[in-house]
Amino acid sequence: MAGEDILVFQLVSRGDSKCDECGRELFKGNLLRKEGARGLCIDCADLGHLTYVPAGDACITRRASNYSPLRAIVLRFSRTRKRYERQGILVSEEALARAEEECLDDAEVRERRREADAERRAERDAEYVGKFADEIRKRYPSAPVDVPDGIAAHACQVHSKRIGRTASAKDFDPGAIDLAVQAHVRHRHTQYDALMAAGIDRLDARVQVREAIDVVLAKWREKA
Ligand SMILES: [Zn+2]
Repeated sequence: MAGEDILVFQLVSRGDSKCDECGRELFKGNLLRKEGARGLCIDCADLGHLTYVPAGDACITRRASNYSPLRAIVLRFSRTRKRYERQGILVSEEALARAEEECLDDAEVRERRREADAERRAERDAEYVGKFADEIRKRYPSAPVDVPDGIAAHACQVHSKRIGRTASAKDFDPGAIDLAVQAHVRHRHTQYDALMAAGIDRLDARVQVREAIDVVLAKWREKA
């Protein structure tokens, strides 16, 4: 936008303001344009054809500003903060309409992209869970039927929190599988959590439940 911004002021008090050109009375909320010492109503200031866009939607404000051949900034004096504050802008109706249309399109595009991302992520996750659970079943064929899926789902959650990291063969190697199964057994099939809750040192608690874990794992490893 060339030149200085055109400023108009929203009247804050119902004083005895009137337009210095047409004499129209101006009330609280009306807009006033200063021209030197004179105060003009919006029509006399040749801004009456513009439409008001309140601040708040950055997309619409930016685009409407760009498209409007003429733009004014609406300010209002804040008595509490003792300064003029920007309330919005005046732009042409065509500019506002175009901005609204484009910003809506953008929002739709973003929404579609989000949906596609979520779908892709869900597919990747399902693949991860399936593969992880299969590996558990191979190594622990006698584990209860729902256990591999539960452990795999948890592993997937942990995995997907590491942003940007794709699954690698390492995620499914025997060591990783064993660790995940061990952790599951420790929390679900031993006194570990109760010991932790009772304030037992974590490493002491691990030692105390070691045998119980091994008993469960040995049972789960048995060939069916
Ligand atoms: Zn006037």
